[in-house]
Amino acid sequence: MTPTPPATPLLSVSALRKSFRGTPVLKDVYLDVAKGEVVALIGPSGCGKSTLLRCLTWLDPPDDGFILIDGQPFGRALVGDTVRRQGRREIDRLRPKIGMVFQQLHLWPHLSALENVVRPQVVVLKRPREEAVARAQDLLAGLGLGGLEDRFPYALSGGQKQRAAIARALAMDPALMLFDEPTSALDPELVGGVLQLLRRLAGEGMTMVVVTHEIGFAAHVADRIAFMDGGRIVEDGPARQVMEAPADPRLAAFLDLIR
Ligand code: ADP
Ligand code: MG
Repeated sequence: MTPTPPATPLLSVSALRKSFRGTPVLKDVYLDVAKGEVVALIGPSGCGKSTLLRCLTWLDPPDDGFILIDGQPFGRALVGDTVRRQGRREIDRLRPKIGMVFQQLHLWPHLSALENVVRPQVVVLKRPREEAVARAQDLLAGLGLGGLEDRFPYALSGGQKQRAAIARALAMDPALMLFDEPTSALDPELVGGVLQLLRRLAGEGMTMVVVTHEIGFAAHVADRIAFMDGGRIVEDGPARQVMEAPADPRLAAFLDLIR
């Protein structure tokens, strides 16, 4: 019997580094995420989680290291033994593969919920407007925002805004979704609904990296937990194992603090 070769990870990050004004924030980050996998990224405030997500989308260009999306170099490529920095156009070609949902509820305030979801499809993907509208209506309805399409962000609750932001990201048909503390700006009674939605996306096979302090979500929905401290992922393993038998003392101390 020939062994099945290991599948190419959907996301592969190696030796990623980022400094701000000479202060290293990401120090050699390594992370692989398989297709369909849900990874919860946890760690103390200031350890570099948001910076990592921003570097993964090239919103903040990393200083060093490599990102592969479905095996394709993103941002920087190794050609032989020289490193080639990609141009804007190459970066923009792959960027829509990664959907990002921020902690703060980033919607365009001057556009309706519907237009928030339609506009990037038309502008970035060059989708015909009619098709983009149909897709947006579908997504908004599916996320419980049917009937609210014409509302502007100020007239939506925090949970509704976050779901509209998720709809906007999903409309781009990303291969991978990154969530940066998607529930931390929400009133407590709205957290459950957004977590429920993430759980549903996970169940539908969406590949996701979720920065979260919702330890119940990490334990029950994530396949893996990656624990970051001081700009490095210092522990990464099956969710249950990481929660129940943390190997690194920093992780054990962190879990004690948040549980
Ligand atoms: P986390 O999301 O884990 O709380 P961040 O990635 O936001 O951490 O921040 C990691 C460190 O990088 C912090 O010390 C923060 O102050 C610093 N940092 C983040 N973004 C910038 C920036 N644009 N300029 C300078 N320092 C930054
Ligand atoms: Mg953060």
